[in-house]
Amino acid sequence: MDPVQQLQNMSALDAAHHIHPFCDIKDMQKNGTLIMSRGEGVWIHDSLGNPYLDGFAGLWCVNIGYGRKEVGEAVLRQMNELPYYNTFFGTSTAPATLLAEKVTGYTSGRMNRIFFTSSGSEATDTWFRLARIYWKALGHPSKKHVIARRNGYHGSTVAGASLGGMKHMHEQGDLPIEGISHINQPYWYADGGDLSPAEFGLKVASELEAKIDELGEENVAAFVGEPVQGAGGIIIPPDTYWPEIQRICRERNILLIADEVVCGFGRLGRWFGHEHFGFEPDMASVAKGLSSGYLPIGGVLINDRVADVLAQAGDINHGYTYSGHPVCATAALENLRIIEDEKLVQRVRDDIGPYFAERLKSLEDHPVVGQVETVGLLGAIQLAKDKTTRQRFQDVDLAGRTVRNFCYKHGLIMRATADRMLASPALVISREEVDAMVRYMRHGLDHLAEQNLA
Ligand code: PMP
Repeated sequence: MDPVQQLQNMSALDAAHHIHPFCDIKDMQKNGTLIMSRGEGVWIHDSLGNPYLDGFAGLWCVNIGYGRKEVGEAVLRQMNELPYYNTFFGTSTAPATLLAEKVTGYTSGRMNRIFFTSSGSEATDTWFRLARIYWKALGHPSKKHVIARRNGYHGSTVAGASLGGMKHMHEQGDLPIEGISHINQPYWYADGGDLSPAEFGLKVASELEAKIDELGEENVAAFVGEPVQGAGGIIIPPDTYWPEIQRICRERNILLIADEVVCGFGRLGRWFGHEHFGFEPDMASVAKGLSSGYLPIGGVLINDRVADVLAQAGDINHGYTYSGHPVCATAALENLRIIEDEKLVQRVRDDIGPYFAERLKSLEDHPVVGQVETVGLLGAIQLAKDKTTRQRFQDVDLAGRTVRNFCYKHGLIMRATADRMLASPALVISREEVDAMVRYMRHGLDHLAEQNLA
């Protein structure tokens, strides 16, 4: 069968049988599906052989790039040796145990325990329960409430979608569940007004204190945030923000949770995003870059303060069939070996990160660009109708979609959250590939300017 025919068949099969995450089923059936078939480095090919520069590392996860045969080989060995055993009832496997040692080792002794999950969403549900178990074990059962942020993202399970601050998710399924509140995000471009970013960081952090007062400290278990809000639009907080959040959490005796699902494992040029911003969480959820997406695995890192109390809490009735899955743990171990051997974290901090920042910043001269922000290999291009007044396009979604779709059509995969264009490439991206990305982006921005949107 010729490849076009094969693709059409596959696309039709997909439309008939496959419901995708975050999609309008009718639209997808009408438009068909793009079937991806092969990847190498930062490049991904569809089943017709068309190449795309993947500026998004899959879904912020393929940190070591596509096509690393070493991972496949390690996984095959483990598959043949022991494809599965659980970590319930006092058993473990060598890959799960070695991975626990390895990952906690990246925290410089700050978080010495990890609970394994298969995804970021499961990690969210895990720390949400552990935080309540912690306070109950300490004799404070009323400390249950969790404060999160508008426009944050913590997954798609009921607790994850509730903790996330996405209105369009809350509208479906009667969320958030009880016991969860949201405060504003540190999005200076949209909400900062006349304040400097530093002033705005403090102001928006102070909302946490006000919310604790409103709920009563004796009722609040924890605050959660992504070091940099990813899905919300790569919202990079001012430097004043996280230290102030940490101060409030410590003074008001609530747990500080970092969602490191996007920021973990080198994306910001540190092992974890909280190191970049200078704060120390009590628990941190991880996934994505832990295995670079080669197999599904996540977890919750836990510091001694919390772990010591959990150890006194009796049975912890929480866990997943695939917690610490030996084949997934093997993929993660091999992924981390590659990140270490190729010094990818240092590469992001000292070499490709600064280069990416400089090249992306060069787009700030474009008439439809209000601001470019980067940290490590996360980059956001804020679109603007009038850059001098920070005025945004009337239909922010249309503006973002226009650039994204143009780029996609011309071979660059990037994402748009409203009017922010997002980039999050694999940590192995070369300078030439960064240049190509920026070239494509500029064409996309030119295309938006030509549309003359209101
Ligand atoms: N937290 C953050 C910050 C995320 O970006 C995501 C996924 N994009 C999740 C949690 C949920 O992870 P998963 O999709 O693996 O459940």
